[in-house]
Amino acid sequence: MAEFTMELDEDQRGVRDWLHGFAEDVMRPAAAEWDEREEFPWPVVQEAAKIGLYSLDFFAQQFLDPTGLGIPMTMEELFWGDAGLGLAIAGTGLAAVGVFANGTEEQIGTWVPQMYGDAAEVKVAAFCSSEPDAGSDVSAMRTRAVYDEAKDEWVLNGTKTWATNGGIAGVHVVVAVVDPALGARGHASFIVPPGTAGLSQGQKFKKHGIRASHTAEVVLDGVRVPGHCLLGGREKLEHRLARARERAKGERETGAGARNAAMATFEASRPAVGAQAVGIARAAYEVALEYAKDRVQFGRPIIDNQGVAFQLADMRTRIDAARLLVWRASWMATAGRPFTSAEGSMSKLFAGETAKTVTAQAMQILGGNGYTREYPVERMHRDAAIYTVFEGTSEIQRLVIARAVSGVGIR
Ligand SMILES: Cc1cc2nc3c(=O)[nH]c(=O)nc-3n(C[C@H](O)[C@H](O)[C@H](O)COP(=O)(O)OP(=O)(O)OC[C@H]3O[C@@H](n4cnc5c(N)ncnc54)[C@H](O)[C@@H]3O)c2cc1C
Repeated sequence: MAEFTMELDEDQRGVRDWLHGFAEDVMRPAAAEWDEREEFPWPVVQEAAKIGLYSLDFFAQQFLDPTGLGIPMTMEELFWGDAGLGLAIAGTGLAAVGVFANGTEEQIGTWVPQMYGDAAEVKVAAFCSSEPDAGSDVSAMRTRAVYDEAKDEWVLNGTKTWATNGGIAGVHVVVAVVDPALGARGHASFIVPPGTAGLSQGQKFKKHGIRASHTAEVVLDGVRVPGHCLLGGREKLEHRLARARERAKGERETGAGARNAAMATFEASRPAVGAQAVGIARAAYEVALEYAKDRVQFGRPIIDNQGVAFQLADMRTRIDAARLLVWRASWMATAGRPFTSAEGSMSKLFAGETAKTVTAQAMQILGGNGYTREYPVERMHRDAAIYTVFEGTSEIQRLVIARAVSGVGIR
C-alpha cells in the first residue's frame, strides 16, 4: 500500500491537467446556461462520455489508485469547473458505490457498467435512500421490501425523496426495510432494473443551487424485482439479520443504544464529497483573488487593503487545510485504515463549511458584482450551500465525530 503523499506523480498530474482542460473548456462556458435552464445537461455528460471521462473505466481507475488521491483530485477539478455539471457527471458514482459496497462480484459486473451506458447511449443511475420522514434519521425509513417466495421476487413499496438522478436514471439502487423490528440494521439494498413497472418519478425539485443536477422523488408502487436484485444475496442477508437480532437482544439486556449502520457505510464516501466542496471553494477564491488585484477604489487595487488581503489569506489557508483533511481520509480509506476518529466525516464537515464560507467571502470581495449573475461567484455560493446538507448534514458529521472521539453515545 502506498505511503501517504501530498504530491501527485507524473501520471496523476497528466490526468489532473486533462480534467482541468475539460472543466475549463467545456464545463465553465456551459455552467451559467444549465444553471438557468435547471435541466439535466445531457449534452455535457455526452461530451464527457465521448472523451472517456464519463465512464466506469475512468472512475474505476481513479478509485483503484493506490495513493487514494485519484478520486479527490478528479472531484476537485470537475467541481472547480462547475458544481451542477460536476454532479451530473459524478452523481452516478453514488449508486455505483452502493453496489460496490453491498453487491456480489456478479452483481457488480452486471449492473455497474449499465449505470454508465456508453458514449453512444449515455445512462445515469440513482441511489435512493432518503425519504420525506427519514433524512438524517435513516432508521425512520418506511419503504418496505417483502419477499414473495413463490415467485422469487421482492416487492417494493414506498416513496423516496431527494434522489439525485431519480426517475431519469436507468438503474435505481433502492434501500428498503426488510425487518422493521431491527431499525437501520433491518435495511437492505435492491437494484431496480431499467424500465421496471411501478417505479415512477414524483416531484422534481426546484433548487437553490446545483441546478443542473436533477433531484426528484421516486415513487415505488408494487415494484417487483427478481430475487437476484437483492444486493449481496439472500444468504448474506439472512446471516446479517440473524447477527443483528442477536446484537439487538444484547443491547436490550445491556441498555446500549443501537448504532446506525448506514452512517458507517456513508463514512467511506464522504472524502469524495469533501473534495467536491474544495473544488467549488478554490474556484471562488481564484475569481476573488484576480478581482481584488484588478478592482481599483480610492486610487489603488482593493487587495492593497489588509481587510481584503487578509480575507484572501484566510480563504486560501482554509482551502488548503480542507484539501489536506480530504486527502488524509482518502488515503486512509484506500489503505484500509479504520476511521477511528471519524476522519471521513471530519473531511466532509470541514470542506463543506469551507465552501460555504469561502464562497460568501468571495461574493463580498466582488461587491455589487458578486451579487449579480454576471460573475460566477453568486452561482458558486448557491452551489456550495448543499455541502453542509447532503451526504449527512454538518450537524450529523459533528455527531459522528463526537461519538467516535468520545466513545459516548451522544444524541
Ligand atoms: C440536492 C440534494 C441531493 C440529494 N441527493 C440524495 C441522493 O442522491 N440520495 C439520497 O438518498 N438522498 C439524497 N439527498 C438527501 C440528503 O442526504 C438529506 O437531505 C440529508 O441527509 C438531510 O436530511 P433532511 O433533509 O431530511 O434533513 P433533516 O434530517 O430533517 O434535518 C433538518 C435539520 O436538523 C438537523 N438535525 C437532524 N437531526 C439532528 C441531530 N440528531 N442533532 C443535531 N441536528 C440534527 C440537521 O442537521 C438539519 O440542520 C439529497 C438532498 C439534496 C437537497
